[in-house]
Order: sequence, then C-alpha cells, then structure tokens
Amino acid sequence: MAYELKLHDNMPLKIKLRGRKMTNTPTPLIAGNWKMNGLAADSLSTIGELIDKAAKAGSMRCDILICPPAVLLRDMASAANSSAVNIGGQDCHMNEKGAHTGDISAEMIADSGATYCIVGHSERRTDHGETDAVVQQKASAVHRAGLIAIICVGEILEERESGTTLGVISKQLSGSIPSGCNSENTVIAYEPVWAIGTGKTSTADDVRQVHAHIRQEISGKIDGSDATRLLYGGSVKGSNADELMAVANVDGALVGGASLKSEDFWPIVNSCI
Ligand code: PEP
Repeated sequence: MAYELKLHDNMPLKIKLRGRKMTNTPTPLIAGNWKMNGLAADSLSTIGELIDKAAKAGSMRCDILICPPAVLLRDMASAANSSAVNIGGQDCHMNEKGAHTGDISAEMIADSGATYCIVGHSERRTDHGETDAVVQQKASAVHRAGLIAIICVGEILEERESGTTLGVISKQLSGSIPSGCNSENTVIAYEPVWAIGTGKTSTADDVRQVHAHIRQEISGKIDGSDATRLLYGGSVKGSNADELMAVANVDGALVGGASLKSEDFWPIVNSCI
C-alpha cells in the first residue's frame, strides 16, 4: 500500500506501508541481471552512465546492483569502486576451487571486487538442471566468500495455472535457503518463470499474495526475516515499476532486459520508495 503526499506541487513524498514494522523496512535493492549480454566497451560505458546518474541523484533511496557477465566483473567492479553502484555475479560453483572446467567460485567473484551473487535463477535451474539442493549449496558458497546471496524462486506457467504457486514457492524456499542466512547476507527474488523476458508481469495482487507468503515462509529460516529484502522480477520496466514497487513486501526488483540500457534502468531505480 503506498500513499503519495505532495508537500509542494513538485515535491512528491511516497510513504509505503509494508505490512510490517516500519523500523524493519529495509533499503530497497534494484538489481540488473545482464545475463550473457554486453562486450567490454559498451558495458563500461553503460556502467559509467549509471554511476553518473547515481552521483547526480545524490543520496539514494535504494541500493543499485549490476550483475554483468563474469568476464567483465573485475573491470566493472573497478569502474564502480566508491560509487553507489554495486557489482555482482550471476552464478557461482559451490566449491572454493578445483577441477571444474568453465566454472567460477564465489571466492573468485569476491576477489574481482563484486559484493553480491545471484543463485538459482530460473535460467540456471532450466538450462543447467540446478535443483534446490544445488542452489542451497551455492548460496552457502556465496556466504562463505563474504558475498550477499540473491536466491531466486518462481513458478512455471503450468504451476500458476493449476493454482500450486504458493506450494511450489514454499518447497523452493525450504530446499534452497541454507543455514546461516540473515537479512544482511541474503536477498530473496521472486520471479515467476513465465514472466521472465516475456513482457508479461504478475498482477499487483498476485505479487502481493506471493510476497506475503514468502515473508511468512522465511521466518525461522532467515534471521531477521522482516528486514530481508524480497525482490520481484519478471518483465519489470519503467512503465510498471511504480505499481510493482508499491506492493507490500516488495523491497526492490531483479531486472533483466530493462537493465541493459541506463535510460531504461534508471526509471526503475527512481521508482523505488
Ligand atoms: C531476470 O532475468 O531475472 C528477469 C527478470 O528478466 P526480465 O526483466 O527480462 O524479465
């Protein structure tokens, strides 16, 4: 529930009631997942634009995160050093090192200067057969390396249509959340799989229901569950971000396509209240 007060005509102040104590309301996080997109020159120029926009905006009302392809992590983290833009990995191996050709460890991601890592994105679950148990081990690895884990969950279309969404989410949460999670080291992203990259989004009512359910489910699994950030992801863009970010228990967004250009991403950053 969000109310907008106008102190002066040009000064909107949005106040959001999140259905929990205001003291526990976390700083929202707007995270961009660039997936397998971007070469060095364009990516560095995009991150530069975001850093400039954040600097011009002054004090930020949310945390900003960009998760570029792994080969760009070090350059991006060094470009974003001392700025308001955080850098994260998109995935990691659960082991610290070893014979795992093509994989990278959470420690390597931390060593690049990144501070977050996504685990359990639906594209990893589908393309690489990652189970909840694997996601749980990866989230543990992220914590072991001192990074913040963004653990993704979400139902597929058949599950949404058969009315099993909440059960699916509960199962994914209990299978994917490792021990040792707290509101500082863990973020949960709810991403209905059918809404990712399709232009379709959940209705605000559906998001409200699922996020309230997640808030309940993580109590007892994550220390400081009330203050844990719950992101919505799935075709978030400038035109729908205001409505989605105003939903109770939505503490930010995980954004794919609309994070690739600063002019598309910035309106989403601006929507967070
Ligand atoms: C995502 O990949 O996490 C995502 C939400 O993508 P998009 O915003 O393009 O739907």
